[in-house]
Amino acid sequence: MAGPQYVSLAGHVCLRLLETPCLYDRNNDDLYELNDEGLTALKLCRGHLTLEQVGLESEFQQFCLAEGLLVLHDQPRPRPLALGPGPLPSLRYLELQITWRCNLACRHCYLGPARGVDMPVARVAALLREFEAMNGLRVLISGGEPLMHPAWPEINALLSAAGMRRVLLSNGLLLDEKRLAGLNCDEVQISLDGLAPGHEMLRGPGSFAPALEAARRVRAAGLGLSIATMAHAGNLAEMEGLAELVQDLGAREWGIDAPCLAGRLSQHPELAVTPREAAQAMAYAFGGSYHGSGTGPEGQALACGLHLATVAADGRVAQCGFYLDDPLGRAEEGLWTCWQRRRPLELARVQGCRDCQVALDCGGGCRFRAPAPDRPDPVLCALMEQPAPAD
Ligand code: SF4
Ligand code: SF4
Repeated sequence: MAGPQYVSLAGHVCLRLLETPCLYDRNNDDLYELNDEGLTALKLCRGHLTLEQVGLESEFQQFCLAEGLLVLHDQPRPRPLALGPGPLPSLRYLELQITWRCNLACRHCYLGPARGVDMPVARVAALLREFEAMNGLRVLISGGEPLMHPAWPEINALLSAAGMRRVLLSNGLLLDEKRLAGLNCDEVQISLDGLAPGHEMLRGPGSFAPALEAARRVRAAGLGLSIATMAHAGNLAEMEGLAELVQDLGAREWGIDAPCLAGRLSQHPELAVTPREAAQAMAYAFGGSYHGSGTGPEGQALACGLHLATVAADGRVAQCGFYLDDPLGRAEEGLWTCWQRRRPLELARVQGCRDCQVALDCGGGCRFRAPAPDRPDPVLCALMEQPAPAD
């Protein structure tokens, strides 16, 4: 007869206290909402009790075992559970711009010219700790080109112990086999801004082949791959071909964005697309969106970036990378302190979105791209097939 079966959460699974309690699978980026009973039982799954003692509801228990969310041991294997309260709204997604160095000079880069500004390793470590303690789900390591950080090996070592999904955003040029083999990330997001002509129109000659090769290497290394694309005048005709390529690469997500006039893009009006053209390109996108909107405690619709923050290489904390000139604070004040200053925008205050039929689905689009804070985002109006906003 089989002995007692001690149960614990799988290593890639954690509990998170968000607007509702959740179980988070970092490997697959899956979030499961829990009721109070489920939370109480899962808190006991720390390797010191048996399945019977934990008392999970039987169908839920079977599901968790079948999905590999729970693991069984012949012997007790106690492990600590660090679970404290999180902020509201929850901070789920954090972008760390660890450096503003870059090995490209893309014509659309919203950060403007590359600069030798690096986030100190100690600050990266502190932010990862704070974010995890705040019940964070997913960190995006970005730049500039993050692999250009002079202390990249130390930062990569820190990532090995980070209790969240770790995503590296890279242009791919430095992502050789050796770097990939030692990379402590679950997913790599590669920027592909078209097929070769469209991509190189933004990123410069010779930049497409290494990016494509890097995307293939990411998959060969068994890591998750996502693709990020900026719609622009030079890649609209390539979207169908790019869609086939993205599919062939086995990407789990394809994020397509429309340009926001900022940084270097201001000097390149030739890259502009109309809202309708942008919407047609964005319709190819698939997978998660981390800039999403949502609802507040009274069910009121709230605008984009509800669960997102960015920390810049120079320490400014902002609601996203476009708001660095209007920051929430500085990293040394503490991430939680900065996040508490975030005031989500109610869509009822956005003229045009207020009475829109699809406001809850749309969320008012990108607040930075909208022509004014209280106006609809014309790209999303086109994507959602709503009338163009009146001038
Ligand atoms: S303003 Fe635009 S970029 Fe910033 S969070 Fe909103 S959708 Fe994202
Ligand atoms: S479709 Fe347009 S008007 Fe409607 S919520 Fe979205 S941005 Fe606002």
